[in-house]
Amino acid sequence: MVDLSRGKLAVLRLTQLSASVYSALRAHPRRLAAGVGGALLLSSAGAYALVEAQPQLPPRATVATEFDAQVLAQTAAIADADLRYTHSTTVRRQDTVQQLLRRLGVTDPEAVRQLGSDARMRALVTGGASSQPVRAVVNAQGELLQLDAMLPLPSDIDPYAVPVWRELQVRSAADGALNVATVERRMEVRTRLASVPVRGALSTALAQSSVPASVGTQLIKVFAPQIDLRRSLRRGDQVALVYQMHTLDGRDMRPGRLLAAEVRSRGVVRQAVWFASPGDTTGAYYTPAGMGLEKTWASSPLPGAKVTSPFGMRTHPVRGTREMHEGVDFAAPIGTPVPSVAEGRVKFAGVQSGYGNVIKINHAGGFETVYAHLSSIAVKPGQTVSEGQIIGKTGNSGTSTGPHLHFEFHAAGRLIDPLRMASYVPQGKPLPPGEKASFYAATAVMRNQLAQAAGSDDAVRLARVD
Ligand SMILES: [Zn+2]
Repeated sequence: MVDLSRGKLAVLRLTQLSASVYSALRAHPRRLAAGVGGALLLSSAGAYALVEAQPQLPPRATVATEFDAQVLAQTAAIADADLRYTHSTTVRRQDTVQQLLRRLGVTDPEAVRQLGSDARMRALVTGGASSQPVRAVVNAQGELLQLDAMLPLPSDIDPYAVPVWRELQVRSAADGALNVATVERRMEVRTRLASVPVRGALSTALAQSSVPASVGTQLIKVFAPQIDLRRSLRRGDQVALVYQMHTLDGRDMRPGRLLAAEVRSRGVVRQAVWFASPGDTTGAYYTPAGMGLEKTWASSPLPGAKVTSPFGMRTHPVRGTREMHEGVDFAAPIGTPVPSVAEGRVKFAGVQSGYGNVIKINHAGGFETVYAHLSSIAVKPGQTVSEGQIIGKTGNSGTSTGPHLHFEFHAAGRLIDPLRMASYVPQGKPLPPGEKASFYAATAVMRNQLAQAAGSDDAVRLARVD
């Protein structure tokens, strides 16, 4: 370790010291050098150091790297006290226990050997980089007195569950032996409000308002059926958020679920609140009036596919007569998977003259969709299908002049142009019947918090509602 008491800086400062302090320094050069050198070493490693000294100083005082005469005098006066340093670092990518201990100032070879082969210490570094602090208390000899760290959570854990984390605790016994233990710690869930003024990219605005990235991802997903927030927001737009934060001893440990959000963009206000019916753990996002935000109808069975024959009167390509074309033909190579455009129940699945292999699906609200000329069918009559579920593959069966999907849309028994389907079908799933009252009760607090967050005039506001 560099002995700064003989360094240039120290010599310059020493000329200002009184004779008594100077003699104290001469008497205890080793302790002083260890303290200051340790602080310099750690500041260069991106960690910080605190020195604990009893009883002449307050319990904890930061060792400044640029020390002045007064600090030197105090340090000299407590030079005989038992110096302990509290170091903090984080686990880095491809870290080893040995590298971690080195950054924490642990140089005692016995401690490095014992902890290097301890499974719990290894579990601390095998989870990869982490923002969670690893704290250690070491003495001037580089011996470990105490180490505390949160072990990484399993990667497959439910992101919204409130986890029980295991805390790793290393303590040195009176005989110098190190005892390693893990203690279960339960997180507390806090609510955070954030008001985010948009000046450029949404991700930048969220980061500047200290909104965790995972909350931003949820925000984008919630509004995705209505608006692409990554592209559509402009300078002057406003975002307000209410989200959960899992905390431990007042420290933010892990962001949780987005509970409510408001996006004000060019005069249009969009709001979302999260609600789960009793027994439902996943929940969904709704407008404050209780209309579901997740799209329940796709815009087309083959979005982006070329329309080769529109809906309406046409000269039939095979018979050559003027006839009504009751659907839309989408060009698609044989074998293209065909999804149901919405949740429903299969009314018919089989062969019908003209249609070839055809599937007809009934949907809530009196709607029916038809998928014809298929090469294969993957569903049976009476079966329930979800939106996006693959029901068959495109083909060229029945009266057809080439591979395509013939798609029909019926509303209350009437044929409708499938390209105008979106203006007939519900935009979101309404609350289940009988859930309105519990929805309003459960979301009242969130709606108030959202109004509170959105009403802020501050440039950036982050409030704790504990
Ligand atoms: Zn057709």
